[in-house]
Amino acid sequence: IEHDITNYLDIECDEIYNLACPASPVQYQSNPIGTLKTNVIGAANLLDLAVKKHAKIFQASTSEVYGDPLEHPQKESYWGNVNPVGVRSCYDEGKRCAETLFFDYQREHKIEIRVARIFNTYGPKMKSDDGRVVSNFIVQALENKPLTVYGEGLQTRSFCYVDDLIRGFILLMDHKDFMGPVNLGNPVEFTMIELAEKVLNITSSNSEIKHEDLPLDDPKKRKPNINLALDKLNWSPDIPLEEGLKMTIEYFRGFH
Ligand code: UDP
Repeated sequence: IEHDITNYLDIECDEIYNLACPASPVQYQSNPIGTLKTNVIGAANLLDLAVKKHAKIFQASTSEVYGDPLEHPQKESYWGNVNPVGVRSCYDEGKRCAETLFFDYQREHKIEIRVARIFNTYGPKMKSDDGRVVSNFIVQALENKPLTVYGEGLQTRSFCYVDDLIRGFILLMDHKDFMGPVNLGNPVEFTMIELAEKVLNITSSNSEIKHEDLPLDDPKKRKPNINLALDKLNWSPDIPLEEGLKMTIEYFRGFH
C-alpha cells in the first residue's frame, strides 16, 4: 500500500522497517516542513503501531545526527554538532528527535526497537535526479557534461554500497537484544575530488570538473567508526567503492 506516515496507519504486522523520508539534501530541503513531520509525527505513528501490534520496529537513522562533526571518525557515543535552525535541520533534527522517540517508547512501552545510523549509501536504482553526489557525478559523466563539485571538493564522505547496508539492517533486526544506535557505513573515506576522478576514470568520460557553491552547513568530513557493528553484529562492508561504482554505472548506462 502507498501511505503517508504522518497519518496513522493500522495494518497487521510483526516487523516494521521505517525508511520513510528522502535522504537527498536537495529532496528533503524542497519540503522541509513535510520532512520534519515525516521524521517526527511519522515515527510516532509507527511506534504507536508497534505498541498496538507488539511488533519489532527498525529506524533508519543517519550520520546526520552528528551534524558537522567535531569528532573524527564518528563513534555512536558522540553527541554531534548540529545547527538547530539551518536548512539541513528538518532532516538532522527530525532524525535526532525520531531517535529520542524510539528510546522513549522503548523505555515506556517495552517495545523492541532497532536503530541504525546510516552513512552515505549508493547503488543501482537511485533516481537520476536524486541530487546526491554519486548519482549526479555518474549521470554527468555518462552525458559528457561537467561534473559539479561543490566548493573546493576537499570535503570527505565514506560511501557504502547498498547491498552491504541492507545486510547490516537484517543482522540488526534479527539480533536477539542489541537495539543500537549503531553506525552502518563504509569507513573508507574519500574527498569529492577523488570521487569525481574515480567516476571519470571508470566511465572513460571526457567531462570536465566544474566547481559550484558549497551548500549551506555542508559537513566538512564524515567517516564512521564501525567497531560496534563489527563487535555486536559481526558486520563490515565487503564491496569497495570502485566495485560498487562499476555496478552503479552499469545500471545508469541502461538509460544512456
Ligand atoms: N556534492 C558535490 N556535487 C554534487 C552533489 C554533492 O560536490 O553534485 C557534495 C556535497 O557538497 C557534499 C557531498 O558531495 O559535500 C555529499 O553530498 P550528498 O548530497 O551526496 O550527501 P550528504 O552527505 O551531504 O548528505
